[in-house]
Amino acid sequence: MISAQTRLFALLGDPVGHSLSPLIQNAAARAVDADGVYVALRCGAEDVAGFMRGLSRAGGGGNVTVPHKERAASVLDAPREAVRRTGACNTFWLEGGQVVGDNTDVEGFRQALQHFLGASAAEGQRVLLLGAGGAARAALLALVDDGVNQVCIVNRSGERARSMARRIGGARARVLDGPGEWHDQSFDLVVNATSLGLKPDDELPLDLARLGRAGAVMDLVYGQDGTPFVRHAESLGIRATDGKEMLVRQAAASFELWWKEPAPLEVMRGALEAGS
Ligand code: NAP
Repeated sequence: MISAQTRLFALLGDPVGHSLSPLIQNAAARAVDADGVYVALRCGAEDVAGFMRGLSRAGGGGNVTVPHKERAASVLDAPREAVRRTGACNTFWLEGGQVVGDNTDVEGFRQALQHFLGASAAEGQRVLLLGAGGAARAALLALVDDGVNQVCIVNRSGERARSMARRIGGARARVLDGPGEWHDQSFDLVVNATSLGLKPDDELPLDLARLGRAGAVMDLVYGQDGTPFVRHAESLGIRATDGKEMLVRQAAASFELWWKEPAPLEVMRGALEAGS
């Protein structure tokens, strides 16, 4: 029941109407009797700072999604390490009078990869990372911190890829500039962190048949029946998963930052399945 004590959390972004986060977070709060409510607010860049400060100071907090994650990072009084290293914030709340922010996409990616391939999934691996936006930066940070051998990056805008590689990847990141650099190459894991696959008429982010070997495929895009890239991988006999588990894990990490108690993962997975 909503009362005068109920904490208000909001997803800030544009668009937000398609988001499954309200379903997942409200189901989780109900399951553990947390007195909070989570809504989605479509907002422009000029309103991000006001919402973040107001919601936090009123005892709540929220998430930030496309296209405001970078702006959100600049609003914080106390950015956590993942925000400082990726330049993006997707979760905010109040602590000690300060607006604190984290980027739980990093933890979400890490945990989803481990769920998919096991505990030391990144260690010593050669990874092909497609994309250089917010999701790619979170994936790259998690891979580097978890001991990946090399991350090769392919992105439509090469300059954006180089800047991400310099900022996060250091010596373990390499930007590939044209198909000649990845055709016939072997990778333990291919990660799609582009937005290709969101729209029905999108082309595939990469033709996996042109690679020498792809050990596994993780698509950060998600859909009701998998995604075109997951289906493409499976048609070639490659083990593949979509972005649903990452969505649940980043949501669970946010929940734990706000409520300081373990998130009910199964309830959150169930809410996602029911809503998608
Ligand atoms: P973003 O910051 O806008 O980045 C989009 C990326 O896709 C960029 O690398 C962009 O390349 C590339 N791209 C877009 N249109 C393209 C096209 N027509 N051809 C080739 N490349 C194209 O978005 P984001 O936040 O990183 O999100 C990327 C995807 O990850 C989205 O589908 C999002 O839903 C998903 N995601 C999933 C989770 C999860 O929990 N599962 C979390 C975060 C994001 P340029 O740099 O050249 O523009």
